[in-house]
Amino acid sequence: MSHCCRALLLVLLSLCTAHHSSAVESGALDRHSERAITLLRDAISRQTVHGEGNVPAYAESLREVFLSAGFEPESLTLVPYRETASLVVRYAGDGSSGRQPILFSSHMDVVPADPDSWLRHPFELQEDETFFYGRGVLDNKFDVTILTTLFVWLKESGFVPNRDLIIAFTGDEESFQETVQQLTRDHRELIDAEYALVVDGGGGVLDDSGAAIQFQVGFAEKTYATFAMTAKNPGGHSSMPRADNAIYDLARAIQRLEAHTFPVETNEITLTYFARTAPFLNNEVGDAMARLVADTGDAEAIATLRAQPQYVGTLGTTCIPTMLSGGHAENALPRAVSAIVNCRIFPGHTPTEILRELQKVTANPDLEWRVVGVPVTSPASPFNNEIMAAIAASLEPIHPGLPIVPKMGSGTTDGAYLRAAGIPSYSLTGIFINPKDSFAHGLNERVPRAAISESLLFWRAMIDQLATTQSRSATN
Ligand SMILES: [Zn+2]
Repeated sequence: MSHCCRALLLVLLSLCTAHHSSAVESGALDRHSERAITLLRDAISRQTVHGEGNVPAYAESLREVFLSAGFEPESLTLVPYRETASLVVRYAGDGSSGRQPILFSSHMDVVPADPDSWLRHPFELQEDETFFYGRGVLDNKFDVTILTTLFVWLKESGFVPNRDLIIAFTGDEESFQETVQQLTRDHRELIDAEYALVVDGGGGVLDDSGAAIQFQVGFAEKTYATFAMTAKNPGGHSSMPRADNAIYDLARAIQRLEAHTFPVETNEITLTYFARTAPFLNNEVGDAMARLVADTGDAEAIATLRAQPQYVGTLGTTCIPTMLSGGHAENALPRAVSAIVNCRIFPGHTPTEILRELQKVTANPDLEWRVVGVPVTSPASPFNNEIMAAIAASLEPIHPGLPIVPKMGSGTTDGAYLRAAGIPSYSLTGIFINPKDSFAHGLNERVPRAAISESLLFWRAMIDQLATTQSRSATN
């Protein structure tokens, strides 16, 4: 963001928050943005990939940052787990709202990156005029840095929230997602909250001209489940073929899967997503979204949307074969042949239900089925008007009138475990980015430089909305 643009933004923000006690002065924003860049630089230099054992030292360094900002040692808990760890930070409120805490969560680990294939070294913060680059600069060390800086800023300014605010930084979101489970299972008292804001994913979407077109909030995630389907056969020598063959059996089953589609399903989240996305597409896909919202049985609209890989998953459960293996010699009849079938299950169904449906569709009782890994089923989080109103008010000075769009994710993040543990969770970030620029998990991951100050302002405003008494009485 240019300097004049930011000055305007600060004026707008202070006008908008004039009824709060905490209008932001620009010196403070600059100071804390600088601090955030220093923290981000340190974060990127730590290779917190699975198996390297570097997360605990990163967590300890963040603990030091909170300590020097004035947090009591008792409010900071480092929870070790195998080679990794979580850090839980409690910002004590005065309890005046009588409400349960708000939990903020992000993750300290990153997916691996091979320095040889990157243009810039992935574990050094690199920058140009527009972007910061580095592994984790978007997913998710950016938001770890912003939340840390936000809490330090609030603490240094003497702010006391009207309810406790809790940060949970987890340590293995990109691999096994066991640290979040450890927290919900063994340390519930540390993280128990009315709801969680999972600061990872979601957030502002920019179009190719750099204009903000919508702000996404994750309300639900599909269940990720993988099944192995195996055809077995007594086998024999290929010079003496038998009529039955494991490859034929498996091929028939796969063809039946190909011909099968799961029923169309919608919920409040996906219908609102379609309704609010349709006007921006301005093409036949947008028309199909609008028609589906008007009539969820519109077959033509369904066919149009199903033909789009980015939208088919929003219409119901999908299952697709992804891997094949089998046979043991070119001159032997195969004794076992397997296909891996990966499913993304629409909220409201269990993996067992879907497995039964797959068994019915493939119509061969001799096939053997196995669940691969442990699928996590989580309910959709209920609509929360307080959070939606807080987001709208916090965006107003930056992007007035921006549509806020609920989303259903098709992967599994820490949020799924929080939801499964009964803590409604909403995924959002203060980052505005063109999806084409994100490169999360990929090469040359980047984040717009402007996101630092914009995110700090956004979250500062969110705290005003959600955890100060003035704003509650103003909005109630
Ligand atoms: Zn992430």
